Amino acid sequence: MSEQATITVRGATRCYGLKTAVEGADLDLRAGRITCLLGPSGSGKSTLLRLIAGLEPVDAGEIRSGERVLSAAGRTVPPEARDVGLVFQDYALFPHLTVRDNVGFGLRHLPAADRKARVHKALTDVKLADRAKSWPHSLSGGEQQRVALARTLVREPHTVLLDEPFSGLDAHLKSEVREGLLETLKTASAAVLLVTHDAGEALMMADDLVLMDGGRVIQSGDPQECWARPASTAAARLLGEVNRLPAQVAAGVARTPLGPVPAPGLPDGPAALLIRPQHMTPGAEGLETTVETTRFGGAFSEVGARLGDDRVHLHVPGVIARPGDVVRIRADLSKATVVAD
Ligand code: ADP
Ligand code: MG
Repeated sequence: MSEQATITVRGATRCYGLKTAVEGADLDLRAGRITCLLGPSGSGKSTLLRLIAGLEPVDAGEIRSGERVLSAAGRTVPPEARDVGLVFQDYALFPHLTVRDNVGFGLRHLPAADRKARVHKALTDVKLADRAKSWPHSLSGGEQQRVALARTLVREPHTVLLDEPFSGLDAHLKSEVREGLLETLKTASAAVLLVTHDAGEALMMADDLVLMDGGRVIQSGDPQECWARPASTAAARLLGEVNRLPAQVAAGVARTPLGPVPAPGLPDGPAALLIRPQHMTPGAEGLETTVETTRFGGAFSEVGARLGDDRVHLHVPGVIARPGDVVRIRADLSKATVVAD
């Protein structure tokens, strides 16, 4: 693949009539890295992807590749002039072309021998070299997805955009296809944007994570950092269940029902303490709570308990309590975050 690609999105905004689908979005895509864009349905993920692809204009803001402006208000470089490869949810393979011809479709301008070599390499990369002569309808969902990916990667684009590429796959196929895709993308050294609404998938795949809600980017950065240090309740909830308790900040420290927690940089006044259920464990000592609900969840049980005026959820291994029981819980406050909202 050719030299490093960096796509820079700054303040990208897109409106449909009165509806603002994407508002002031910032995002960077780096060569050789997978950026996952995670958000609930309707949060603007596909719209942002289409803006980056050049399938739609921005109403405000800018998208650049290095110094080159790809999108700005009143100016949109068309998709075919962007060096961007797209993989959509439905794969959109040509049913009347073999796997090999599907993958070679975008290389018709090349001499036959070059085309053949590139197609063979792309199919080998996605582990489908032995299916070159097959028809799309004879392939499994996972295989079709890999053909779609090979068809995109064979053109060696700087940037690869994938919109929910696993949503059509059965659960048991997902992890296998995901592993294969990761492997292929890592060797391709393209800048990759992968859109998903699945938190586990995003956390597993992302080098860089971008969280979206209501058309806005609400947090971005290292996945572990986003999980451990959410910027807001909404950001925390996108990545998994979280307990939210009232807090009162004074001089950089929050008073909370679980004890004092550092809140550096937050203004004095009301705030919220966020702590994940797995960081609250029952023990011989700690705060007294009354169990209200228990739900068996296999690897862990979810215990709903009352803590003063507040309700909290704990994830505990096995079934440890019944409604009405009084249990003590210990909260690992080093894993808690205070946010302003
Ligand atoms: P996501 O991919 O996160 O589910 P989308 O980007 O598809 O979200 O949509 C974001 C919002 O913009 C939604 O409210 C959706 O209904 C709206 N929207 C998307 N595309 C269009 C369109 N072509 N015309 C009108 N509204 C649209
Ligand atoms: Mg979408």
